[in-house]
Amino acid sequence: MAFKAPPGTYDLLPEQAYAFNSIRQIAFDLFERYGYQPIETPTFEHLEVFTHGIGDATDVVGKEMYLALSQRGLSAVLAGDVPPRTSEMLALRPEQTAGVARALVQHNLLPPGAATVKFVYAGAMFRHERPQKGRYREFRQIGAECLGAAEPSADAEVIVMLMRFFSALGIPRERMRLLLNSMGDDVCRPAYRAQVRDYILAHADVLCADCVRRADTNPLRAFDCKSESCQAVMADAPRITDVLCADCRGHYDAVLAYLDAAGIAYEEDPRLVRGLDYYTRTVFEVQAIQGLGAQNALGGGGRYDRLIEVFGGKPTPGLGFAVGFERILLALQALEEEKAAGGECEGGGAVFALPRVRIFLATVDDQARQAAFELALDLRDAGIPVEMDHQGRSLKSQFRLADKIQAAFVGILGPDELADKTIRLRDMATREEALVALENLVERLVP
Ligand SMILES: [Zn+2]
Ligand SMILES: [Zn+2]
Repeated sequence: MAFKAPPGTYDLLPEQAYAFNSIRQIAFDLFERYGYQPIETPTFEHLEVFTHGIGDATDVVGKEMYLALSQRGLSAVLAGDVPPRTSEMLALRPEQTAGVARALVQHNLLPPGAATVKFVYAGAMFRHERPQKGRYREFRQIGAECLGAAEPSADAEVIVMLMRFFSALGIPRERMRLLLNSMGDDVCRPAYRAQVRDYILAHADVLCADCVRRADTNPLRAFDCKSESCQAVMADAPRITDVLCADCRGHYDAVLAYLDAAGIAYEEDPRLVRGLDYYTRTVFEVQAIQGLGAQNALGGGGRYDRLIEVFGGKPTPGLGFAVGFERILLALQALEEEKAAGGECEGGGAVFALPRVRIFLATVDDQARQAAFELALDLRDAGIPVEMDHQGRSLKSQFRLADKIQAAFVGILGPDELADKTIRLRDMATREEALVALENLVERLVP
């Protein structure tokens, strides 16, 4: 039987795996300048971390999560022995903020009076959604969380950092849209939710069943409904920005002022409500203007001042974002295709440039192969990417291989070269050949 990767998953072949590592590295290097430190949390957590942290009225937790049960646990369930205790139920993480919040409380990473702590992470997340372009069931996110700061300058700093990240990747600013909104807080949001609930029930005849069903549990989700008729109706729904309390209004206005001062262009979008229950006040999303189709969100995030309490910590303000690796890849690929077609756009690209072998050592006999083996080790120790033949190919076939792997040089070793301590060096771009003393080889190969 020939196996294939499960639906909604894919293999990161070298070009994509290299791009993921590059994008991850760009993020970690940049975020480090803003005081972020790396963190890794488990790929699976107790189910309750997500049901409490994210909220089970969300699709992410209510419908799309992958539960994990050991073979032993499954056997017990199938045998009808014991219903699994909630504390034994595990789930693959659908996002990482809840895990980071859990870790913060578990390790007391933010004792009273401490400075803010900032984390950056990158890894795979899991959601059972309908697979489509740019949307997978196992997908990769790069994210950042800033904990301990309630001030609007923290919100603005996080948003500026996110936009700088996209610039560092080579996505031109004019190809992106930064959407901003405030979701209010415990003072002003309950009344707003009630307004939206009443609005939904008043329009129940023209809204989809899902939106009506959510009126009581999660009415704000109706703003995200994919149905066009729902979108048309929700366009006239009450707007949170009209009913923010004075504190939320002041916070929101200050965030906008900081962004103005930083020269960051944004669009206010009163219908932007991030899908997860834990957000308070500032929320934001970055969309690609072209190239991604319906899945145009590159990433987004917001403030979650109540989340840490959910995990038993002291009230701790925080905010963060996550960006989708697959979405970024699509945006960069669209830019590449545009350039290949003669488009004028700048940017994109560098993350796809797989490193090439600098020199391929071609050998004419076994004695030369022995010498090449040792030379290859010396060159690699000197930092130069080297490949050689390990299959006993003919010289002609070795040259073809060197061409195929796009080696910049081929070094030919035969009896004469061995006797003279030289190597015949061919520049594969110019086809020029020169006899080079082995002691000068490293110098010749450094780009
Ligand atoms: Zn709907
Ligand atoms: Zn408020």
